[in-house]
Amino acid sequence: MSTHAPSYYAASGLPQPDRPALQGSVEADVCVIGAGYTGLSSALHLAEAGFKVVVIESARVGWGASGRNGGQLVHSYSRDIDVIEARHGKAAAQALGGMAFEGAKIIKQRIAQYGIDCHFKPGGMFTALSDKQVRQLEHHKALWEAHGHTELEMLDARATEAAVGSRRYKAGLLDHSTGHVHPLRLAQGEAAAFESLGGRIFELSPVTRVDRGETAVVHTAQGQVRAKFVIVACNAYIGDLEPQLAARSMPCGTQVIATEPLGDRFPDILPTDVCVEDSNFLLDYFRLSADRRLLYGGGVIYGARDPAHIESIIRPKLLKTFPQLQGVKIDYAWTGNFLLTLTRLPEVGRLSPNVYYSQGCSGHGVTFTHLIGRVLSEVIQGQAKRFDAFASLPHYPFPGGRLLRVPFTALGAAYYDLRDKLGI
Ligand SMILES: Cc1cc2nc3c(=O)[nH]c(=O)nc-3n(C[C@H](O)[C@H](O)[C@H](O)COP(=O)(O)OP(=O)(O)OC[C@H]3O[C@@H](n4cnc5c(N)ncnc54)[C@H](O)[C@@H]3O)c2cc1C
Repeated sequence: MSTHAPSYYAASGLPQPDRPALQGSVEADVCVIGAGYTGLSSALHLAEAGFKVVVIESARVGWGASGRNGGQLVHSYSRDIDVIEARHGKAAAQALGGMAFEGAKIIKQRIAQYGIDCHFKPGGMFTALSDKQVRQLEHHKALWEAHGHTELEMLDARATEAAVGSRRYKAGLLDHSTGHVHPLRLAQGEAAAFESLGGRIFELSPVTRVDRGETAVVHTAQGQVRAKFVIVACNAYIGDLEPQLAARSMPCGTQVIATEPLGDRFPDILPTDVCVEDSNFLLDYFRLSADRRLLYGGGVIYGARDPAHIESIIRPKLLKTFPQLQGVKIDYAWTGNFLLTLTRLPEVGRLSPNVYYSQGCSGHGVTFTHLIGRVLSEVIQGQAKRFDAFASLPHYPFPGGRLLRVPFTALGAAYYDLRDKLGI
């Protein structure tokens, strides 16, 4: 637990201060558990608002999904605004739709305000592999435009090939307002920003228990934080800390490989330097790093077992997209866990009047976690409207419980994967 997963990101992160483990008793207005984006974003918003905030992290800042992900800033939610409207009504769709494009703005603003060196590059693209997916992208564009997001451009097959350097795609939807980052550097930069405002982060301090009460008490092996408010921000790595949160969600693994730097070879690969994700149910996502490595991710392992041979899972996917990279050397391969909910929508709420949580943002977590950090800071300051819009969505336990949720979900995914393979 003490070191980062052996990723390209860990090898190229920002220099870090020595942060202590929690010892003894500490007082705070807010104690945040987990130093991923959910925790750090909340902590930074609250510190900016003048709160005394303490962050407690099991391992290191950005050790979880926030320091291992694809780095792609993807708008909206894992179930889009039209699905929210169909399931939960117009009011919910309007409330959540109004926030669907805020996360990326917060990230870009943070980068500019605090001078975070996280290799931000503009532009993100969704690609279509079948006619059905082309129609989905067109629908997607119209939907987002109806909610005020107009920086979108539909590309035909030739323009998509020119932008990506792969012949696989029938179309692409380019979002000019997003982009991609070195995710661990973003987390580390936000931690530094938080600390520059007087915030304190304790690392290597797994929280073992949260005692509820007017003053909540957050316990670690060697210390405790007494706080007026607590935010539980542990996502897929929560373990047994809050069993009711674990029961409503399922950790899933996804893997990424990083090639050797491509240098001036293969100038046709991602010449526009945007990040890309395809539209399959089990999707592939890729982009170039600042030193021109191809970072390629894909696949989902329900239940988040660590796979033995990541390269053998991901390299064939990479070669299907970029056959010109046959024989390229893979320098890094790693896995990380995100959290799935049954509805595929994030779960936000209270465990008691002053203990808040947010979890389960699936593959849209980079932007969503930044949005929800602001929303959690608002509710702690007494403005509940936007928090209530999320908290009023229903949460369901996974069918089959801990034992059967993996095979049940994998069966459903296999069905959708087959449909993608058949292009139907
Ligand atoms: C490989 C991969 C690729 C992805 N790609 C993308 C992408 O390109 N775009 C996108 O939008 N999303 C992507 N995601 C999803 C996204 O990374 C996550 O949704 C997001 O980072 C979740 O942030 P978080 O802060 O909620 O959780 P995490 O970053 O996982 O942080 C949780 C933290 O809580 C800590 N913790 C857990 N239990 C305790 C405890 N008891 N005490 C103290 N601390 C504790 C953990 O150590 C961890 O640091 C990807 C995820 C993975 C794994």
